[in-house]
Order: sequence, then structure tokens, then C-alpha cells
Amino acid sequence: MSESEQDSAADLQQEVCRHLAIYVPRIFCLGLSGSDREEQREELACQLLLLAPLEWLLLGEEPAAGLALLQENNQPSALCGHVFKVGEPTYSCRECAADPTCVLCMKCFLGSVHKEHRYRMTTSGGGGFCDCGDSEAWKTGPYCQKHTPGDGNQDTDEVRLMSDPVAHLATDMVGRAFSVFFIILKYAVDLLTWEHEDLLPAGLQPPEREDTYYCMLFNDEVHTYEQVIYTLQKAVSCSQKEAVSFATTVDRDGRKSVRYGDFQFCEQAKSVIVRNTSRQSKPLRVQVMHSSVVAHQCFALKALSWLGQIIQYSDGLRRILCQVGLQKGPEGENSSLVDRLMLNDSKMWKGARNIYHQLLMNSLLMDLKYKKIFAIQFAKNYRRLQTDFMEDDHERVVSVTSLSVQLFTVPTMARMLMVEENLMTTIIRTFVDHLRHRDPQGRFQFDRYTAQQAFKFGRVQSLIGDLKYVLISPPSKWSDQLRLKFLEGFYAFLELLKCMQGMDPVVRQVGQHIEMEPEWEAAFTLQMKLTNIITMIQEWCSTDERVLIEAYKKCLSALSHCHSSLPDGEQPISLSLAGHSVETFRYQVSQEKVSIHLPVCRLLAGLHVLLSRTEVASRFPEQLPLGELSPPLLIELPLRCLVLCAQVHAGMWRRNGFSLINQIYYYHNVKCRVEMFDKDIIMLQAGASMMDPNHFLMIVLSRFELFHVFSTADIRKRYREANKDLVQQNTLIEEMLHLIIMVVGERYVAGVGQVEPYDEVRREIIHLLSIRPMAHSELAKALPENGNKETGLERVIDSVASFKKPGVTGRGLYELRPEWNRYFNLYFHHYSRADQSKAEEAQRKLRRQSGEDTALPPPPPPPLCPLFGSLVNLLQCDVLLAIEGAVLQWAVEPSGGGWTESMLQRVLHLVGMALLEEQQQLENSSGYEDVTFNYACKITREAPSTSGSVLALLESLQNAPHLEVHKDMITWILKMVSNIKMMRERTSSASSFTVSPERGSEETMKDKDKAERKRKAEMARLRREKIMAQMSEMQKHFINENKELFQQSMEELEASTSATHHSPPSAELTCVSQVAVGPRRVGGTERRQLVTCILCQEEQEIRGHSRAMVLAAFVQRSTVLSKNRHCNLPNPEHHDPLFMHPDLCLGIHTASCGHIMHATCWQRYFEAVQLKEQRRQQRLRGHTSYDVENGEFLCPLCECLSNTVIPMLPHAASPDHSVENPSLEVWLKTTNQQIAALHSAHRTQSDGAAEEAEPVVPQGFKVDFTPQNPFSSSISEMITTFSLSTYKVGLKVNPNEQDPRVPVLSWSSCAYTIQSIERLLMDEEKPLFGSLPCRQDDCLSSLTRFSSACWTAAPLKTVHTHFIRLLSALVPDTQVENTPSILEIDMFHLLVYSVLAYSSIHCLDQSGCSVVDSGHLHLLHLVTVAHLVQILLTSTTEEVCMDQDNSGSEEEELTCQLYSTLRNHLGSVLPEVSSGWQLYRCLKAGVLPFLRAAALFFHYLNSTAPPDELLIAGPGQWEALCSYLSLPSNLLLLHHNQQTLLKPLIHSWCCHPGVRQTLQGGGAIIRFPRESNRLIELPEDYSVLINQASSFTCPRSGGDKSRAPTLCLVCGCMLCSQSYCCQTEVDGEDVGACTAHTFTCGAGLGLFLRVRESQVLFVAGKTKGCFYPPPYLDDYGETDQGLKRGNPLHLCAERYRKIEHLWRQHGIAEVIGHAQEANQALVAIDWQHL
Ligand SMILES: [Zn+2]
Ligand SMILES: [Zn+2]
Ligand SMILES: [Zn+2]
Ligand SMILES: [Zn+2]
Ligand SMILES: [Zn+2]
Ligand SMILES: [Zn+2]
Ligand SMILES: [Zn+2]
Repeated sequence: MSESEQDSAADLQQEVCRHLAIYVPRIFCLGLSGSDREEQREELACQLLLLAPLEWLLLGEEPAAGLALLQENNQPSALCGHVFKVGEPTYSCRECAADPTCVLCMKCFLGSVHKEHRYRMTTSGGGGFCDCGDSEAWKTGPYCQKHTPGDGNQDTDEVRLMSDPVAHLATDMVGRAFSVFFIILKYAVDLLTWEHEDLLPAGLQPPEREDTYYCMLFNDEVHTYEQVIYTLQKAVSCSQKEAVSFATTVDRDGRKSVRYGDFQFCEQAKSVIVRNTSRQSKPLRVQVMHSSVVAHQCFALKALSWLGQIIQYSDGLRRILCQVGLQKGPEGENSSLVDRLMLNDSKMWKGARNIYHQLLMNSLLMDLKYKKIFAIQFAKNYRRLQTDFMEDDHERVVSVTSLSVQLFTVPTMARMLMVEENLMTTIIRTFVDHLRHRDPQGRFQFDRYTAQQAFKFGRVQSLIGDLKYVLISPPSKWSDQLRLKFLEGFYAFLELLKCMQGMDPVVRQVGQHIEMEPEWEAAFTLQMKLTNIITMIQEWCSTDERVLIEAYKKCLSALSHCHSSLPDGEQPISLSLAGHSVETFRYQVSQEKVSIHLPVCRLLAGLHVLLSRTEVASRFPEQLPLGELSPPLLIELPLRCLVLCAQVHAGMWRRNGFSLINQIYYYHNVKCRVEMFDKDIIMLQAGASMMDPNHFLMIVLSRFELFHVFSTADIRKRYREANKDLVQQNTLIEEMLHLIIMVVGERYVAGVGQVEPYDEVRREIIHLLSIRPMAHSELAKALPENGNKETGLERVIDSVASFKKPGVTGRGLYELRPEWNRYFNLYFHHYSRADQSKAEEAQRKLRRQSGEDTALPPPPPPPLCPLFGSLVNLLQCDVLLAIEGAVLQWAVEPSGGGWTESMLQRVLHLVGMALLEEQQQLENSSGYEDVTFNYACKITREAPSTSGSVLALLESLQNAPHLEVHKDMITWILKMVSNIKMMRERTSSASSFTVSPERGSEETMKDKDKAERKRKAEMARLRREKIMAQMSEMQKHFINENKELFQQSMEELEASTSATHHSPPSAELTCVSQVAVGPRRVGGTERRQLVTCILCQEEQEIRGHSRAMVLAAFVQRSTVLSKNRHCNLPNPEHHDPLFMHPDLCLGIHTASCGHIMHATCWQRYFEAVQLKEQRRQQRLRGHTSYDVENGEFLCPLCECLSNTVIPMLPHAASPDHSVENPSLEVWLKTTNQQIAALHSAHRTQSDGAAEEAEPVVPQGFKVDFTPQNPFSSSISEMITTFSLSTYKVGLKVNPNEQDPRVPVLSWSSCAYTIQSIERLLMDEEKPLFGSLPCRQDDCLSSLTRFSSACWTAAPLKTVHTHFIRLLSALVPDTQVENTPSILEIDMFHLLVYSVLAYSSIHCLDQSGCSVVDSGHLHLLHLVTVAHLVQILLTSTTEEVCMDQDNSGSEEEELTCQLYSTLRNHLGSVLPEVSSGWQLYRCLKAGVLPFLRAAALFFHYLNSTAPPDELLIAGPGQWEALCSYLSLPSNLLLLHHNQQTLLKPLIHSWCCHPGVRQTLQGGGAIIRFPRESNRLIELPEDYSVLINQASSFTCPRSGGDKSRAPTLCLVCGCMLCSQSYCCQTEVDGEDVGACTAHTFTCGAGLGLFLRVRESQVLFVAGKTKGCFYPPPYLDDYGETDQGLKRGNPLHLCAERYRKIEHLWRQHGIAEVIGHAQEANQALVAIDWQHL
């Protein structure tokens, strides 16, 4: 830049500042009112007055055109760089990603090759971007289709790095961009890092200053939401709502102005806030800031966002911005604008950080050249940034340090930073510096571990994460520089490990229990976090021999340093046994300090294995300090640790409390064991392979404090000495033997044995599956993960196991293939004792089933690597033989306590291992001479201390009766011995080596054995089967007699027995003319009903005058059938339920578990429940799974949620067939007369005088007649009980017996329940009759009969009035007003109500010349005709052209006739329809559900057996249905044959003003048949849902992401659940979005899918809910609740259908009840806040 240019640039800067100084305070932050209009105005002004001028300045022309031109000329980079929103799905390929942090956005993923690979799906925590196009992030397929570089410029990264995108820009544009970007970026940086509250930077001071201030509240992570809300209400006296909104914004943006006014006014609020929050912790941060400062900061953020948008148009502009940002300022080092931002990061508020981080991601991280420069700056400042972060109290995602994942995970970048900025060492040193708690020896000490320290400790751990990124991929090429810097980092790391070596030491507590559990978690957390790092460092070492050797040396010297104090002051002692002696020193784990933390030893063990694996040791022995190794010292500390575990198992450390138990647990746990337990075993193996095996074993014996046991020959002495601790000592011996087995036998680590890592994983899986079949996730959890979160499971699993698919419940399982059973090792080192015994049992069972012997001999071991080769000598050394001899000797006598079976079993295992070893060596050798291993021979030798050789002892034990269980194993051993002898003899005698004939004879022996075993097994099986049969007989009995039964088994039983239970109607009943309604109907009175009370077990016949019997029942509101989810719930006080609207928007459903009780027994039971609840409430508060106050209880037999009981009533009597039946005309006339008589009587009653002429009263009709109550008082009482229940639940009101609506709601429940069951049967294509489970059948039957009787409990006049009004909907009655039109009535409800109400009229007719049934029939006919009209009116609004010349059938013609009648009345409102075929088809389909429901209704009302045709699904239904209902199969005849009579009725229906209004669009038209409601359709791929949810914003807080987006499965509505922002008040209580939604969508019941959790949520009311497995499964047949595993999830249609079925059959409340009953923790959840 020339001087003049600089001048002009300075001028421009001044000019821009002047402009901003004037306008910014005028535009931004005028007061507090954050209304939408205000915001829009601000936005507009900002765009016009501030940003547009900048764009002109930058582009030099009209912005829109200029930007378009820029974009056109741009050559975009191939990076996608899509920045993730919170909750957005991200994908990583498990096969191709360089590491798990490499992710793709959904768009790129779907266009990539990886969607065919094994991929992992997670939801983003926000921040981070798509790595598509970054060739370093992907081993293959780095580009998706969209980001594949075009054919024209197939640039490699290299080329793109070199080419300068700025070259594509015009020169003047470049100049303008430099100056504008600089001015704006500097302005923004100045303001965001500005610390004055009252002043502005030079040049920005406003022309006039006003006394306007803001009281600014800042966010912290210390104070809770509630505290902030409470404080704000006090400090600025705002409403709770405003306070919530303030708090939400503070939480989101990091700050929010809570008061606006003069200085004094704001200062006052500040002091109140500070005072109120300073009590327990540091106070909330509050600043009083001048309004102009706030305004400029506001604009600074807008300007940054603007920059981010502008550079999207051009890579050239992006690079200029990068250059401007990283250009050093005049102050030199760390003075660039980006540096200033980074270094002030922790001082900024959240909103500001988010915006500039976003800008960094859009600019620096998207430009490969500047990304490197930025990374160097970042690494240079690393220590300082981390320290700032440590002091800061914000989450890591809003800290600039979180950018490390973008920089360090690029392998070339990480390596460059390691070499140039010594990054590895920096990170480790920073980490060590921040862990300041040390003991005098310099080890970490975390005792006095407070919450605040825990918080800090948590933050420090992010450094480990950074270290992991740096190390995640080992280099393929090493430079000398890299070696140097890596080793420097390695030394730093060793320093860290040295601080951990020996931390948290423990001393055995004797006498008293420890007083305080010592802190242990911090140390283990550290260990756990470092586990992967330690493994990675070893991996790095393994790739370069020089590095490995140097690291090994360094590690060894570090260990020597740790050991320097080890044998100090200890007395040397000498041990001798079996002719060998060794020097060691005295040390007892049980008396001195011992620590579990030995990371330096373990690292050395790891490196030692690498030396062996890479064969460095054999190639460069001279470079290795192997001579410096002192094997006894190497094994000392790991051995102590293992002895500690053994002693803990033996119960010697009981008084040390749980902290020790936990430590031992984690020591073996899969999360830690790789770098703890496993390495200790390896260290022992390394040490033992370098020592005389006898010496090794003697030291082991000594550390186990068992030396004296085996050094004395006298067994009695052992009893005397051990005395009371004998059990303890026995356990120690077992543990010691187990340890020897592991040291010799564990060879599945590459480097110890000659195996591959693949074999290691396979062996783990074999042993896991030997316990039992397991699900994929169980296996994955039980295997250690590497740094890439991989276990290697998938590579192996299919070779060893077969997969069994899950059913509708449960999950898919893997089962071990039988050919792998022979690899089972009972003493597998990762088995816990419990695992071991389970596996043993399972394996023995398997062998027994396949007719084999039950010996579990050791599996053939893989050969050892040379460095570990001498380990095998342990098996045949004298000390071990002495130990084996001793144990076998003890076992000769079946004495109590002197030895244990496990001890013997372990010795037998060791013997077996030795024999296997010898056999293998013999098989693999060419001649007898090279096999030095000679165990079989050694065991024949007489041992001095025992009464015979090991072999002789074994032979004598073989037939010992007290060792029956071990017989097979001993036999196996003896066979092995003779085999080996034979092999040796053969090789020595003859060179021809053939074993086959011998094997052959052995084989026949074996076969014989086998056959015998098989026969025995078969007999055993027969015996078992017999017993099973007896058992199941007893079980059946038990089911009948017993109450301890669960609902589920009951249901299953019912389903399977319903066919038989439901005796198919016998032949004489199912004659052709089986009729359920009308005078010709067939009754069911013949059947006596005998039932048993589940409570007192007494039998009782159902009769009208006997003791009442009741069914437990659950009444609930339902919207399952609703066709209108948006209608407002009726006002309970004024709602008139007499006419159900055809949209069925709210019904009352009754269900029952079918369990019958005496009413009195039930009452007693319920009173007891109430009493218990009262007592419980006094003791502890909280909810139960049922609400006793609302009458809820659990069925005493099946624990099904219930809230009332249905009385059971006798069958209806058969009609008197001698009575003549009136025709419809006569019946209508009579009924009209009867009604008229009632009208007049009612009037007389109310007015006291008759004004009009007495109407004609039909003969025998007695208006004043009071019928006799047909029921006993106890039954009447129960009728009232149930009536009131439906009334109370249905209307949500308090019970009121006097309310005339009481019977209506009972009828309603009957009609609605039948309708919903009819729908279910229809949709599941089940036959109408005979397919319902018993409980539903009993429920419907009782419910219907109850409904027909419930009028007896209500005042007669009330029921009369109902009937009169109901009939007036069909037959016009001038005396009745406000009758709805037929389009507003559900005809089935009308039928049920009018039939049930009719009895009340009929009972007044004492003439004896009519039966109530003829009334029913006429009502059915009338309602059917009305329904036909209703269907015709609503069915055809659009003309469908059909073949018109088709000569119609009779039905079609009559349909056309009726339709034209309707058109005569309504004219053009109805469309013209010419096709009778079409009309009739609609009509038939539309009326079918009604007919089916009516058939069910009359079936249950009159107990008429259904015709055969209806017991099966299939054709012929229509005719059977019509005849069962006493209807002509041509339904149109109902109209045709009564045309004159019906004409005026049809006229009145059509002329109801409501009809015309509805048809002309004045209301929703319901068409028939109503389509069944289903749950919403879900996408097949779960990530589609996640994506949907991630773009869902909270509807209340203006564009914010919702934290818990939740999908209503009923209506598909997405909700913002579990959040303050979306709480609403329902009945005076704040509830979350889900609960609120259930009240509008599901009448209080809801089914949701919590998208982020992949979990189904059921809620009922405000207090009840449960989680339910989602219908999404991964490929292994498992759900992923919580989305933790990230396997791709797909919809399982069966499971979703099951959920839908639950909902449609009204079973959700019951599921919740059972879930809560089973898991009390669910009861305590505040479901209403979800
Ligand atoms: Zn992408
Ligand atoms: Zn892409
Ligand atoms: Zn892939
Ligand atoms: Zn009873
Ligand atoms: Zn029950
Ligand atoms: Zn909904
Ligand atoms: Zn919300």
C-alpha cells in the first residue's frame, strides 16, 4: 500500500465510523419492548441504513447484481462445510472415516458411497461441520455426488491449496474488500472485546449522549433457572412469564437486558440482583451499560453475520477475510484480529462467541491454506486458551477451545503442529499443570474432592480429548523431527504416569470398619480417560522400531525410578521348597500399603509385548537394556495388586468398605482392564518367562501368604494353623491356582502368543456366548473399544455365531455355533466368578444334551512367541508339581473344609494344560529327542511329601465316590496320559508314526460309551416329559384356583381358549332364521349363568334378585374414533350429550379385565385399598400408580387398572310370541299418542292445570304407572355406581345422581364401546362374532345389559323426556325444539339410545297386547332409513362417470329413486348423479359398519346366538347380517315399501335448515363409512425423523431450536416438550407441551415419540405415564433408547402396528398402569412437565 492509499483507507475508516456513530444508536436497542414489529423495524433499518451502504462500498455497484456476479464467477471449493444445528443427524462411516469425528451431513451422506457401508448415526450437539470433500477425513469416498470436483478441474487438494482464489477477483474489488473487511472486522472485534460500560472507542462516541442505560444480566452455569426467575421477579418486578422469558434468553444468548432507564434506575435493579444471588455462591453477573454501547455491540454481531454471508458468494472474498483476520497488527505477536477474539473468548457472552465461532468456521476453517496458519496460531496460544477456559464457567461447546476438534483431527495438520509447535508435549504439560493436587511423593491426590474440583476436573479432561485427536491415527511415515517430538511428548506422558503410579494406596483395615470411604473415583476417572491414550501411544511406538526401543528404555528407567524405594529397609529372606530356594524380601499385602494404580509398569508391559510382536527384541538385542531388567522387581507391584484382589475375594478386606470393592470392580471392568488387569497378567508372564519357574512360583506363594501351607508336609498342621481362617485360606489357594492358570494359559494377546488381534476378539466373543446367547449391544458393551469406538465385533461375529431374529417383543440374539464349544476355557481370565459358574453350568448342560461326557478340559492353547516361550516350564516345574500333589493328597479324604472342589478342579485343569502342552509338542516335533517337555513322565515320580505320585493319586481319585462330579475330567486326564505314553513309545520304538489303529479302538470304546449315555439321556427325557405333563395339569388347576396371576399370561390363556370357552352356538339354535331383534327374536334365557367371585371363591347365579355380581372395569374418555381433533371440549356444565355428532369427537370407552366379584366383596376390597392409601400418604408422600381418590384401584386378581365396576344382569326374557305385532304405521300412531299423553301429563305436573283437550290415550297406557323395580337393592345400587362413573368420567364433573344426563352417558359408553370394537374387528378382518377375547365379550355383554336396565335407576320422567327428544329427530314433533338435523347425529348412537330409552315408555303400557321388541324393530327400521338418507346426502358430491347404460338392478333403481326424492327436497345442493350402481355401492359400504354395530348391540342385548356365517370372516356376510337384524337384504325396500308413511319424515329431515347449511359448506361433512383412525405414518429410516426434528423450532421462543422435539403419533404434531418455554396452564396447573397436547388431541391420553431419545412416551392425565420401546430397530434387532449406540435404525412395521393396536383397543392406560406397578421409579417422574 502506498502512503496515499493508506491515507485514503484511514479516511474511509473514519467516515464509516462517523456513519455508524450516528446511526447505530438510533436503530438498535430502543428500550425493552421486544415486540415482533419492533424487531422487524430494527432489522429493516439495519439493512437499509447500515448494511446496504457497506455492500455498495464493497461491490462498487448495486448489491444484488454484484453478488450475483460474484457467485457466478466463483469456483467453489469441494468442501461442504455445512455447520450443524443442535440435534441435526450426522453420519460417520465405520469403514472409511479416518476417525469418529469425521462426519457427513445428511445430504452429503445420502449422496455418498458410505450409505452402503456400516455407518453410525448420531445427533449433533451443535457446532462442527460436514467433512465432505476433505480427502484426509476419509480413507475412501471423500466426496459426495454434489461435492465431487467437476471434470474440468479435477484438482487434488495440493493443487487447490496452491491456486489462489483471489486471482479470480477484479483488482479494484480486491482493494475494496481488504479495506471494507478490515474496517468492519476491526470494528466488531473492538466492540466485542470492549470492557467499558459507559464509554465507546474513539470515533464512535455518539453526537449527543442521553441518560439511557440497560441493566444487563449475564448467564452463568452456577445458578439454576428457578433461582434466576425468582430473583428477576424481585429485582425488576416483572411477571413470572416475563421472568421466564428473560431467563430463557439469558440461557440462550448469554446475556439479556432486564431493565431500561436512567442510570439510577438500572443501578438499583443491579444491586437487588447481586444481593439476592450472593448468598450461597458468587452472585449473578450484572452490568449497567450505556445504551449506545449495547447498540454498537448489537450491530457488531450483525456485521459479523453479514461478513459470514458475503464470503459465501466467493472463495476469493473468503480468502481476503482470512488474510485480514490473521494479519499481524502493529503490536506484533498475537495482535491479529482473530488472535484478539480468541484471547478474549472467555470474557465474551455466549451469543457473541457463537457468532464469531460460526464466522471462523465459515472462513478460516473452509480455506485450506489459512486453516493451517490459524491452526498454528491456535496451537501457539493453546496453553493460554485452555487456562482461560478452565477459569470460565461456560460449557465447552461455546468455548473457542472446542475448535480443536476441527484442527487436530486432520492427521497432516496434527503432525505438523506436533513437529512445529510441539503440540503433544504442550497438551500433556498443560494437563499436568492443571492437576495440582499432589501428595508428598508428588503423586496425584484427589481426596477432599469437592464439587467444584469435580467441575474443574471435568474441564481438564477436555485436554485428554485433544490429545486423543492428535494421536488418533498413527503415522505411516516417520521423520526424524517427528520422532524427536513424539519422544519428547512420550517423556512428558511418562511424567504424567509417574504422578499416577501408586496413587490412592490402601491399607487393610483390621478391628474397626473404616470411618470414611476414601475418594477413589477421580483417580479411576483419570485412568479411564487415559486408557485409550495409553493404547494409542503404544500403537505409535509399534510403527517405528527406533521409537519403540527409545520408548522402552525411557519407560524402564521411569519404572526403576518408581522402584527405587521398593525393597528399602525390607529384610531379605530365603525361601525353599521342593529342592529349590530363592532370595526375596518380606512383604505382606495384608499389612502394608498397596495401590491399584501402576500405569508405568503397565505401559512397560505393553511395550514389552510390542518388542515381542515386532521381533525387535530378537533382531536388536544389543540395543535393549534387557540385562537391566530385574524380573523379581518387574513382577512385584502387579503381583501385589493381584494378591490384593484375591484377598478382597477371600473377604480379608471387608472393613475397608465399598470404595475398595468399587476399585477392584473397575480394575477388571471392560472400560479399564486393557490397561490394568490385562497388563498385570502380561507383566507376570514377562517376568515368569525370564525367571526360573520354581523361583517365580515361590515368590507368588509368598506374596499370597501361602508359602507355609505348601512348605510343610503335615496336612494336620495346616488345619491347626489355619484354624478359623480356613475358608479364607482355601479361597486364597483357589485364587492363586487361578492366577497360575492365567499366567501360563492366557496367550491371546498378539506378542504373547502367536495370534492376531482378530483371534483375541473372537475368543472374547466365544466366551461371552458360552454364558448364554446375547444381543449385539450386550456383546459390544462387554468388549473394549479402541480410540475409534470400534470393538472389532462385526468382523468376527458371523464366523462364530448365528443370529436369531427378534419377534414383536424382545431383541435379536447371537448364539454360539456348536463347533466353537471346544475353545471354551472355564478359567477364561475375563470371567467374573458369577460368569464362570453360569458358563460352566451352560456348557455342562450342552454336553449332556449332546450325549457327551461333562469334562471341561482346557482348550488347545496357541503357541507362545519366542520371548515368552519359556512360560510353559511353569507347568512342569517341581514347585507346581508339589502344589498339585498336595491338593490331590488332601482330596483323597472327603473331609469337611480341608480342601474345596474348586481347588481340585483348578489343579485338574493345570494337569490337563500340561498334558495338552506335551501332546502338542509331540505332535509338532519330528522326533522324541527335541521334546523337552516331559510332564507325563514327571507325574509318575513319587513325591517325597505325599503318599504317592501325582498319577497314582489321580488313579485312586478316579473312583472316589465323593468326587463323582470330577470323574469325567479325571478320566480324560488319564486317557491323555496313556495317549502320550503311547506316542512316546511309538516314536521311540518305531520311526513309523501311526496312531490311527489305536485311535480306532479308542473310538469304538467311545462309541459304546456314547450309546450308553444316549440311552440314559433318552430315558431322562421321557421322565422329564412326564413330569412336565403333570406340572402343566397342576398349573391349569392353579390358574383356576389361584390369584397370583399376571395379566399377560391371563390374556394369552384367554386368547387360546376363547374358541372353546365360547361354546359355538349349537345346531338347533342356528337355524336359518336366527333373528336378534324384533318379536321373532330368539332369546338366551335358557342359559343359566353361574359365576365365581375371585375374592371369596363362592359360586353365584346371576339373577335379578340375587346378590349383585360385578366386573372390574375401566371407563375412560376416548378420541380414538374422532374425526375432528380440533373441536373444543364441551363445557361440562352445559353440554347436552343426548345427540352424538357423527364426528364422534369424544366418546366414553369402557373396558374390563373380565374378573368377577360380589359387589360386597369388591366394596370391602376397595375400602381396604382406600385405607391403605391413607396410611401410605401419611408415611410418605407421592403418587401411586392409581388414583384412589378418583375411584381407581387395581383388579385384585390381575392388577389391571380399574376405576369402577359393571353390574352383571340376567339375560332378557324371550318375547311372548302369542302377542300380535303392530305394523310400523300402527306402532308409530300408538307411540305418538303415548307421547302426546306424556306431554300433557308433564305439562299438568308443571303447570298444575290442563289447558288443552285431553289427548287420546291408547288403551292400557297408564301415565301414572310406577313399574316395579326388577332388581334387588344391591343390584340397583351397583347400577347407580356404574352410571355415576360414566357420568363423572364422561363429563369430568362431580357425581350427581339427580342430573338427567346420567343415563345418557351410560348409553353413550355402551354405544361407543361397541362401535370401537366393531372398527377393530373390521380392520383386523376378524369375524364379527366369536373372535373377541373373553374379557371383551364379557365386558360388552354386561355393559349392554346394564345399559338396558340403567333407566330403572333414573326418574321415569327424565327417561321419557329423553325418548321423546330422540324420537323427534326421526319423527317430527312440534312440541320438541332444537332437534339437530340428521347430518348432526350419529345414527348408531341414536339407535342405541332410543332402543334403551323405549323400555321406559313401554313399561307404562299395561294392555298386554304389545311387546317391547316390536318397538325395537320399528326403531331399527326407522334409524336405518334415516342412516341411508344420511349416507346418500353425504356420499356423492363429485360426479364419477361410470358406464351409464348399464341396466341397473332393483337395488340400484330404488337407490336412484330415493336419491331423486332427496334432490326434490334439496335441489341443486345435491349434485346430479346418473349412476345408480355408484350410488348403491356407496350406500352399501356406508351402512355396513352401522349394521355390524347394530348386530353386536342386539346380540348382547337379547343374548341371541349369531348365525354361522358371521362366525367366520368371508363372503355371505351381508345377507346373514340383514336377516339377523330382521332386515330385508335389499335395504331400499325399507323405504320403498313404506313410501307414503316415510314421505313426510324424509321431507322433514331434508328441510331441516341444518342439512342445507352443512351441505353448502357450513360445517364439516362426515362421510360414511368413516375411515378408521390410524397412527401417523412414520418414515422407514429413523434419521429422516431426526432431521425433521432438528429443523423444528420452538413455536413460542421465536426460532429457537427445541431441546426435546416430540412427535404426537396420533395427529403428527411436533411439540417442544420438557421445556419452560412451552408450558401451558391446564386446569390451574403448569404442564408441559405433551400433557397440554393430550387434552386437545386425545382427551387426556397421548402417544408420543421423543425423537432425540428414540423412545415412545405414553401419558394419561397429568400424573401417569411410561416409556415404551420405540418401533425402530437396528440391524441386530435391537432398539436404541437414548440413541447411544448410533446404529442405523429402521421402522419395524410389526412393532408399530402393535402400538397402534394398543391405542385402538384403548389399552394405553392399562399399559401405563402395569408399567408403573412394575417399576415404582416411573411413579415419581413428573409426567406433566414433559
Ligand atoms: Zn455436507
Ligand atoms: Zn458433500
Ligand atoms: Zn464408507
Ligand atoms: Zn365374593
Ligand atoms: Zn382382572
Ligand atoms: Zn396429537
Ligand atoms: Zn418451546
